[in-house]
Amino acid sequence: MPASNELLERSAAEIAAAVNERRVSAAEVTRATLERVVATEPNVGAYLTVLAEAALAEAASVDRRVAQGERLPLAGVPLAVKDNMCLTGSRTTCGSKILEQWIAPYTSTAVARMLAAGAIPIGKTNCDEFAMGSSCENSALGITRNPYDLLRVPGGSSGGSAAAVAAFEAAIGLGSDTGGSIREPGAFCGVVGFKPTYGRVSRYGLIAFASSLDQIGPLTRTVEDAALTYDAMAGFDPMDATSVQEPVEPAAPALRDDLHGLRVGIVREFDPGALGGAMDALYRAAYAGLERLGAELVEVSLPTAEYGVATYYLIAPAECSSNLARFDGVRYGLRVAGRDVRGMYDATRAAGFGEEVKRRILIGTHALSSGYYDAYYVRAQKARTLIADDFRGAFASCDLIACPAASCPAFRFGAKSDPYSMYLMDYYTIPMSLAGLPAISVPCGWVQPPDGNEPLPIGLQLCGPLFAERLLLGAAHAYERATNHRATHAPLAQRLTA
Ligand code: GLN
Repeated sequence: MPASNELLERSAAEIAAAVNERRVSAAEVTRATLERVVATEPNVGAYLTVLAEAALAEAASVDRRVAQGERLPLAGVPLAVKDNMCLTGSRTTCGSKILEQWIAPYTSTAVARMLAAGAIPIGKTNCDEFAMGSSCENSALGITRNPYDLLRVPGGSSGGSAAAVAAFEAAIGLGSDTGGSIREPGAFCGVVGFKPTYGRVSRYGLIAFASSLDQIGPLTRTVEDAALTYDAMAGFDPMDATSVQEPVEPAAPALRDDLHGLRVGIVREFDPGALGGAMDALYRAAYAGLERLGAELVEVSLPTAEYGVATYYLIAPAECSSNLARFDGVRYGLRVAGRDVRGMYDATRAAGFGEEVKRRILIGTHALSSGYYDAYYVRAQKARTLIADDFRGAFASCDLIACPAASCPAFRFGAKSDPYSMYLMDYYTIPMSLAGLPAISVPCGWVQPPDGNEPLPIGLQLCGPLFAERLLLGAAHAYERATNHRATHAPLAQRLTA
């Protein structure tokens, strides 16, 4: 196997070091990645668009910069971008028919910062339509399979980016997380999924779903790579009015190997006993692992967290009903002719949006309508405040919180056929989103499902106070180093490609 091909299975940090030291060129890494994509995509289907030409052009420019003596933190690192982030000249679909042919006229700040750091845009990845879903099954444009078991979903909504990273079709995937869309696919695909504090990474050029919740973050194979990505992307952006002015201290230099001096809160209401035998045992073992690393475990309570899902499914649809009003056939994407302008709006939206997106628009419009606004939207906002208060209370007695990332491992296609069982997939991730907190999912073990042959990864979620990314990533790194669960099983997609 040529050196660069083997390199593709290493971390982004290692790839960047090899390119910076000129042991391999960004062009070679990019060509090898594009070959890997051709070989792997028939099984996985992570990408909606492969940007071969743009990737090779970017690689040539990185090689020039390196030759001139620049050291780039992500030199030559293959990057997969969720297809709800704009990149000039690339089709940006949000997994929707309404934007199927829409070409982005500008580049999102997050992607621009990744390119400035030397990353190479390999392609745009599949996702649930407008990021609404937990399995990628709501994409109108393709099916993505879990690299560990091709009969199962990769999670969602950032399932394409998670699958691309797990199947070595990229070293870093960008995702967006509104209620769990980075952490849950991270857990399902056996990779690290990190959602920074709301406002840390600019939303400029991220097509909005629920603007008070949306946050961009990385999917990577190591915590160090998540830290490097965060360091490249985080920080104030005048183009996003909700981007925060707080200074960003780089997280990569703060990665640690133990948890001495840290109190980790175990949430009383999130007892893993409710998840049954194998999951219960793995989460108990994970908490014990944190303790062995020096953490002091303390019990904390989040009494209103159980209302998270109900609260989220009023606030997120309310914001989506407003954000998606712009897709009416006038300015962006699909236009279906009608008798008059009104008829054109109706025909375009009827043909362009899928079932789940329509359901959310209807729920949101209802919750915001006069007569229902106080009963639904205002009450949901009050519940949101209570949930954030619960976290503040908990962080008075601990530095970080540990809990499951999801209630089950990756499920089979079609297994969650009613909307409510799909909504419950985000039971453990939504409360942090409503509170705006940074949270990460790190692989914490494998379960053997009764209905399959392949062992499936599960994720431990760690969550910190607002702006505690350095502490959070540092602790996640210590856990990863001590356990290295990713190394235990190779993905099926890799074995089929080799
Ligand atoms: N699964 C949740 C939803 O459907 C969260 C999605 C997300 O975080 N983008 O809304």
